[in-house]
Amino acid sequence: MAANGYEGELKMIEELTTNAEQIQEEVLGEILSRNAGTEYLRGFLHGQTEKQLFKKNVPIVTYEDLKPYIDRIANGETSDILLAEPITGFFLSSGTSGGQPKLMPVTAQVVNKWELFRGLYESPAMKHFGDINQAGKGLELMFARPEIETPSGLKAASVSTSIYNECNFRANLPKLYTSPVETIFCPDPNQGLYCQLLFGLIQRDEVVKVGSVFASTVLRGIKFLENHWQELCYDIKTGRLSDWITDSGCRNAASLVMKPNPEQADLIETICNCKSWEGIIRKLWPKARYIWCICTGIMRQYTTELEFYCRGLPLVSALYACSEAICGINLEPLRKPCDVSYTFLPNMAYFEFLPVKNEGDGSIEMKSNNEDTELVDLVNVKAGQCYELVVTTCAGLYRYKVGDVLMVSGFYNNAPQFQFLERKNVIPSVDHEKTSETDLFKAVTEAKALLDPLGFILAEYTSYVDTSSAPGHYVLFWEIKGKEGKHCKELDPKIMVECCSRMEESLHYTYKIYRKRSIIAALEIRVVKQGSFEALMDYFVSKGTSLSQYKKPNCIKSEEALKLLDSRVMGKYFSPKSPL
Ligand code: AMP
Repeated sequence: MAANGYEGELKMIEELTTNAEQIQEEVLGEILSRNAGTEYLRGFLHGQTEKQLFKKNVPIVTYEDLKPYIDRIANGETSDILLAEPITGFFLSSGTSGGQPKLMPVTAQVVNKWELFRGLYESPAMKHFGDINQAGKGLELMFARPEIETPSGLKAASVSTSIYNECNFRANLPKLYTSPVETIFCPDPNQGLYCQLLFGLIQRDEVVKVGSVFASTVLRGIKFLENHWQELCYDIKTGRLSDWITDSGCRNAASLVMKPNPEQADLIETICNCKSWEGIIRKLWPKARYIWCICTGIMRQYTTELEFYCRGLPLVSALYACSEAICGINLEPLRKPCDVSYTFLPNMAYFEFLPVKNEGDGSIEMKSNNEDTELVDLVNVKAGQCYELVVTTCAGLYRYKVGDVLMVSGFYNNAPQFQFLERKNVIPSVDHEKTSETDLFKAVTEAKALLDPLGFILAEYTSYVDTSSAPGHYVLFWEIKGKEGKHCKELDPKIMVECCSRMEESLHYTYKIYRKRSIIAALEIRVVKQGSFEALMDYFVSKGTSLSQYKKPNCIKSEEALKLLDSRVMGKYFSPKSPL
């Protein structure tokens, strides 16, 4: 028996990463031998199970290619058209980055892998911070969404909701987390959030880590606290829950623990009542050792703000996973978010990689003809190279493009480590020019630097392609926050125009050429009111996205989301001249 709760997991990570090649072969071998007889694979492998044949014959696909099979299963056909192991339900992807939520088959094996993964991804943090689960509780913001039932009677839920539903998770919840289960399953996420903050504050002396799956949800929590701390303090003082919390589950859970505590309320009030909220997390939860949330990929835009609120506490991005497959863990939890790499776990899926050209200036060009490009095996990827991730899983995904672009940063034992670069195809394009998530991030970073010395920060952004007039143009929605009480109305319009120019200058060469040739019109920044991006999040949550899994779209495609942002525009600014 291991001395600490996490040593067994660390040992397993050593074994997995050391034997990465052999384990990958075994994983693929098992998937093929089990599933070669399915209708889907029979069409390509004719019942054979050789790796060579798999590599030669099985096509690289996207969700759209597999959707007809998944839909047939959801509509009542037996799941062995796609996979041999019986399907127990579906994971519902968040659907905020790429459009509609996708259904991913779930089997008993998938559930087991997630359970194993949960132990593995926590262990590197425990190595640094000690067995945190023994030291106290986590204030983790968690939000379940109602399950959807498919016509065949199978349940579909987000990965996080499925985890919150597990017996093991529920049994350990009171010991490990401050949030009662009723607050996680509260149908109104705002009531749930209020109560989770309340329970986190009541138990503030026990809280050893604070977090949520994604950085944006942690920030949402802090902003909510900024608007509700007086009310929360009043509830703590009086021992009574605010009347607008009508959910009976939340009320029952609160009635079990709430009692008047004026001293605690006064302490919290004094902390929250200060002018600057810099380091507020540390002040409110003095025993917290770290902030737990994914800060890479689309979440990197939130790290500056989050670092402000948690001043001095490390941000730990522990894992990289998606509804399709579990991928990797961060073995160096103290690394800054911009340097985080995920070490792939070879037992979770069979991983292949589609090479992608790195232009060297941070921009990335996707190869256009996948068929001509050999997929590279996990252990054969090259340091410094960029790849698109392709997975084959035990749950019916064969050579499936996840849509994530990664860069190899090194190896741990024999397993490669990847930095997350971007999601593919969630980006603006007027005339087939390729503007990636990274291009956009780079240009926004350059432009927003103009705001900083003036006492303003860019809190949120997204993009949109406006083709309502010809030629089309890029629109950036910016939510700007004034530091120390400043209001963004005080911002000089000339600076905003300069931000437009700076963005255009920082975009890639093709963009600039297109601008010069008037194939693309002047870039526009629309400054939106405070809270607009929270409203956008609320909109997607109302459409079924779990607040725990929400990822703000980097390029708006939905008409309603566009209307929502447009109705909150305070000022529109255009680039005055072509950047070339
Ligand atoms: P979903 O399955 O809808 O929850 O979304 C999964 C997607 O979230 C992945 O394909 C990635 O694009 C993104 N994601 C998950 N983990 C990370 C991470 N550690 N860093 C960056 N992006 C991530």
